[in-house]
Amino acid sequence: MEDLNYFNLVESFNANGCPLCFIMKERLDKFLYNFLDETVTDVDTRLRIRKNFGFCHAHAWMLQKSENCLGQGIIYQDLVETFHKIHLSPSDPKKTRKALDRLLADRKCIFCEHVGGIEKRYLEVFSGNFDMPEVKAAYEKSQGLCLNHMAMAVRTWRNSKTISSYLEVESVKLKELDAELKEFIRKFDYRFSGEKFGKEKDSWIRAIDKISGGRT
Ligand SMILES: [Zn+2]
Ligand SMILES: [Zn+2]
Repeated sequence: MEDLNYFNLVESFNANGCPLCFIMKERLDKFLYNFLDETVTDVDTRLRIRKNFGFCHAHAWMLQKSENCLGQGIIYQDLVETFHKIHLSPSDPKKTRKALDRLLADRKCIFCEHVGGIEKRYLEVFSGNFDMPEVKAAYEKSQGLCLNHMAMAVRTWRNSKTISSYLEVESVKLKELDAELKEFIRKFDYRFSGEKFGKEKDSWIRAIDKISGGRT
C-alpha cells in the first residue's frame, strides 16, 4: 500500500522519538493552527463544540497559545452563556448536580478525536507494512515506538512470527537505550567527572519518549 500515508510513515522513522507520536503531534499542530480561522464561521463545528462542551484540558491550553484570541473569545462566550443559562440552577442544586454529571460524562474533545483518527490510520499502515523488508530496515534505524504504541501494534498482529520479528527490533533498541542511560548515570559519579558526555547526553529524554510517549 504505497500511498501518501505509507511515505509519511517511512519518513517519520527519521524523527526523534516515537514515529507515531511524531506524526500525531505534527498533524495536531496543523489542525490546531487552522482550526480557529475556519471554526468561528462554521456553524456545524461551533454546535459540535457546544455539544462536546469545549475541549480536553491539554488541548484547550494548547489552543490558547495560538494567536487567535477573538476566535476563542467567541467559542467560550457561547459556552459560558450556555453553561450559565442551561446547566446552572442555584435554586435547584439536584438539577445542577445531574446536569454537571451529564455534561462531564458526555464531554468529548474534537482534537482528541482528530488525533485518535490519525493514530488509528497510521497504526494500520505500520502494522500492515512491517513485514516488508524495506519497511523493517527503515524502522530499525528509527528510535522505535513508545510503550503505548508498541502495545497497540502488538495487539494488531495475529501472526506471532511478525510479533517476534518486531519485538526483536525493539529489544535491540531497549538494550542500547539501557546501556546509554547507565553510561549517562556513570558520568555523574565524581570519579568520572572529567569525562565529557557523548551521545548518551539526551538518553534520559529519549527514555521519557519511550516510556511515556512523545512530547505533545
Ligand atoms: Zn508513540
Ligand atoms: Zn483533547
